Amino acid sequence: MTTQLFQNAANSADLAADSAITVDLDAIVENWRYIDSLSSPKTKTAAMVKANGYGLGSGAVASALAGAGAEIFFVASLGEAIELRQIFRAKNHDNLPIMVLHGAQRGQEDALAAHHLIPVLNDLEQISRWQLFAKKTGTSLPALLHFDTGMTRLGLDADQADWLIQNKAALDGLDIAYVMSHLVSGELIDDPVNRRQLACFNDLRSWFPGVPSSLANSAGCLLGRDYHFQMTRPGIALYGIHPLEKVTAQLRPVFDWQARILQIRHAVAGDRVGYGGTVELQRDSRIATIGVGYADGYRRQLGGKAKVSIGGQVAPVIGRISMDSITVDVTDLDKAALRADFAALIHDDYRLEAMAADLGTISYEIITNLGQRANWHYHGGV
Ligand SMILES: *Cc1c(COP(=O)(O)O)cnc(C)c1O
Repeated sequence: MTTQLFQNAANSADLAADSAITVDLDAIVENWRYIDSLSSPKTKTAAMVKANGYGLGSGAVASALAGAGAEIFFVASLGEAIELRQIFRAKNHDNLPIMVLHGAQRGQEDALAAHHLIPVLNDLEQISRWQLFAKKTGTSLPALLHFDTGMTRLGLDADQADWLIQNKAALDGLDIAYVMSHLVSGELIDDPVNRRQLACFNDLRSWFPGVPSSLANSAGCLLGRDYHFQMTRPGIALYGIHPLEKVTAQLRPVFDWQARILQIRHAVAGDRVGYGGTVELQRDSRIATIGVGYADGYRRQLGGKAKVSIGGQVAPVIGRISMDSITVDVTDLDKAALRADFAALIHDDYRLEAMAADLGTISYEIITNLGQRANWHYHGGV
């Protein structure tokens, strides 16, 4: 994708920003189609675009997926949902349902209804709140019912589920579009908790005959058709990140992250590099200073661990990560490579997964924290 960046480099935003993130909407669409192809044609493949589309831009991602045929969208909060509704309105996708994972919190009823948002009801209090509002407005209101089958996070617990099954009138006036649950360890193929949750969910859904069901996140999509039901809810896989320990799926990377080489300097053995002087050079060296730092989501813990790619050659990040820059030892790079203007921060020799491992975290956390200071490009989509 390096060439794409340079092709765009004529515009002034490129000249002004020191880092660039290019999101390939076509790759996101392809990943959605791939996940969609795993389930039966009758199963709908929703798109998880919470947290600003996993940090990559919910408006651009959701519009591209809507253009490709995605029919259902999920976000976490009311605020995210209203933002997405406004984008859909502007793009003639206003009929598309937007599901709000955090449900109908106190006082949010009017806004949910005004923007045609569908809350995921997570407890009896939310159910009664949404039912009361339906009565007040004299309409039947759509909702999803979320049962907790092992996460102990959101969703009706076992006691609440039992009560609801015996008091179905609590749902009068509500149009339950789906019953759903969420997998604890879907990414671990052989974890027995998957089967236990599946059995528990199958038992719960049997009490709601005729209501469609949903269980699978990205990992669940890859676990097999038992887990798909009438709707899947992939997130991370759309963004090109493989959720399973065994790689069984072909997912395309969807973004490219580059930063400008600000300066290349000579240093002599004994010089120290960066804040705290934590690295003492053992030889005469060439150091490149690159315009990305922890303020851009290039995390401080990557100092001494990460590798960038410059002109196709790999160079180690040394010393501490600053707010706005990093320092890279380019002594071993040849002159041709050093003519590059930008360094790739994620590349074949240092993939997102490797960065996540170096940080002791998961790729999800890195992409949801990419900074806004970069010059963001989108290509593809419709
Ligand atoms: C975030 C989320 C998903 C998507 O999970 P991925 O692992 O990103 O596929 C699905 N369902 C619920 C309830 C979620 O919170």
